[in-house]
Amino acid sequence: MITTKKKDFKEIERYIENLESFFLIGCSECATLCGTGNEEAILNLKQWLESNNKKVTGWMIAKTGCQILGTKRQLSQYRKNIEEAQCIMVLSCGAGTQTITELFEEKPVIPVNDTLFIGNMRRFREFEERCRACGECFLAITGICVVTLCPKSMLNGPCGGYKEGKCEVNPMRKCVWTVAYEILEKRGVVEKFYENILGPKDWSKANSPRQFKEK
Ligand code: SF4
Ligand code: SF4
Repeated sequence: MITTKKKDFKEIERYIENLESFFLIGCSECATLCGTGNEEAILNLKQWLESNNKKVTGWMIAKTGCQILGTKRQLSQYRKNIEEAQCIMVLSCGAGTQTITELFEEKPVIPVNDTLFIGNMRRFREFEERCRACGECFLAITGICVVTLCPKSMLNGPCGGYKEGKCEVNPMRKCVWTVAYEILEKRGVVEKFYENILGPKDWSKANSPRQFKEK
């Protein structure tokens, strides 16, 4: 999932200083799981805007905010509410916000959230980064993402600072290569740790902006 966190209202104040009316758009996918794009988040924002004498012309929750055509279709029934608003506020990740920018080029579009990372939710609303979308996944070999979870993104074994299984950058944590070794050990294939050295990584696959089309 894409992890997002709500911006401080103090920051949002700066963006809406000269604006009076707003349409609010949430997202039912990752932002809902994060509590940043669900009904509760929208109603909190609505209440805050109204308590600051701003007008909310309507709100909706996009099924999948990053899906441009689906969101466009869903928004067609809110055309009048959107026309009445000077500005659209989006409670999703940065991709969902840019869907709205593309669909309503003449209106200011304000992100309500900061987009943090691709990660997992361990406990309710407690998130951990797990993937940097490097474009060439080798979890089949390492079991754990060394690109993301090693502070130095060491790709072919631990760095010189490794000490007694711990990470030199954060000695409270295991070195990711210790964890990778343990995963292969549990799978009974620890010899692969030595066979499958990763070699140089093709970082051109991680260059932005990237595009992909299923053939
Ligand atoms: S190896 Fe690359 S694609 Fe796979 S989890 Fe790590 S960053 Fe993501
Ligand atoms: S000790 Fe391990 S996790 Fe820490 S920086 Fe070195 S290789 Fe990466």
